[in-house]
Amino acid sequence: MAKTTGDNCTFCGRNARDVNMLINGISGAICDDCARQAYEIVKEQTAAGKTSFGLNQQDLPKPEDIKNFLDQYVIGQDDAKRYLSVSVYNHYKRLLQKVDADDVEIEKSNIIMVGATGTGKTLLARTIAKLLHVPFSIVDATVLTEAGYVGEDIESILTRLLQAADYDVEAAQRGIVFIDEIDKIARKSDNPSITRDVSGEGVQQGLLKLLEGSIVNVPPQGGRKHPEQKMIAVDTKNILFICGGAFDGIEKKIAQRLNTRVVGYAASKEVASVDRNNLLKYITPVDLKSFGLIPEIIGRLPILTYLNPLDRNTLRCILTEPKNSIVKQYVKLFEMDDIKLTFDEEVYDFIVDKAMEFKLGARGLRSIVEAVMMDAMYSMPSENKKKLHVTLKYAKEKFEKSDVNRLQVA
Ligand code: ADP
Repeated sequence: MAKTTGDNCTFCGRNARDVNMLINGISGAICDDCARQAYEIVKEQTAAGKTSFGLNQQDLPKPEDIKNFLDQYVIGQDDAKRYLSVSVYNHYKRLLQKVDADDVEIEKSNIIMVGATGTGKTLLARTIAKLLHVPFSIVDATVLTEAGYVGEDIESILTRLLQAADYDVEAAQRGIVFIDEIDKIARKSDNPSITRDVSGEGVQQGLLKLLEGSIVNVPPQGGRKHPEQKMIAVDTKNILFICGGAFDGIEKKIAQRLNTRVVGYAASKEVASVDRNNLLKYITPVDLKSFGLIPEIIGRLPILTYLNPLDRNTLRCILTEPKNSIVKQYVKLFEMDDIKLTFDEEVYDFIVDKAMEFKLGARGLRSIVEAVMMDAMYSMPSENKKKLHVTLKYAKEKFEKSDVNRLQVA
């Protein structure tokens, strides 16, 4: 006859007679030995810093590991990579910290990246999220408005994150949000109160609430189309915010600041060492303020870094080097049809030249490759040929045949 649960330890199976003590639960029992062991396991795991989200201090990728990982996908931008790696590492250390009442509490370090469009800001943020396996969402600050106006409420930022986390609130609360085009919510004029600035300062004030860390009621479906939906409370204390923006024209403000600062004795030497082609390197929080971000927001984005403009060499590398470079993607596409795709080296130079000529940056590389490959992608899957070698002549011919003007306005 099978014994009733109460007679045996559910863990080791020993009978009540063979142990000192058997503690009964609702649907099982545990003996004193197993209880002791279980306690030891719990103690060990806690000491190792294991958390509910399965990371511990040893497993955490170190800043150098993070940068090495980024290097596989993003070309150049070393400064931005270092800053990002360190702050993401610190962010996770912070999550692992067990805060005692009188302990030092590590504060959150949200990040702001300044750099021209298409230089890899989104790519960096995306790649980081890939490494860390945390919910990640991208929002565009241009669509945000103050509550009650046409556009999206600030809370919609968190709706996206919740969706990315499959509505697992716990996971979302440790996620990363990338807010793109943060420069578009800059105050339009230096005088804050001439007219109501629906899409500028008001939005910054709203955003501040999220950046600071507070409990926000989030509409799970977003928007105002579902007034009946039940709100979900999300604590933003541990969400890492990475902001990015092109801040068009900020170079002028940096130059002004540099010029006014460097008058006098050491001036000529310092001015000479300034890299005029890449003034973003010298960006400080003061410049963000002159651009129209409110000081409170700047204070909540303590890590400020910049991206370099993409020069010819960088574009050339972007085309072929990253783990999922554009060229590798096309090779893969053809491979799926059993076609071996190869290129002459000169073709790469041609593509980069065109991207430079049309000022299309890295985004343009893809459109140009697409234009060159379109005919082959259309006809080859139904042909029997097993390889395609793209020569300069072929590339030029196909590119010229394509709608070049369309690319120019793209
Ligand atoms: P941003 O967010 O700065 O406007 P993105 O990160 O969206 O720019 O970049 C656009 C595209 O250009 C990316 O998808 C990527 O293919 C390419 N790209 C841009 N910069 C780099 C880079 N430094 N390394 C590799 N690819 C890049």
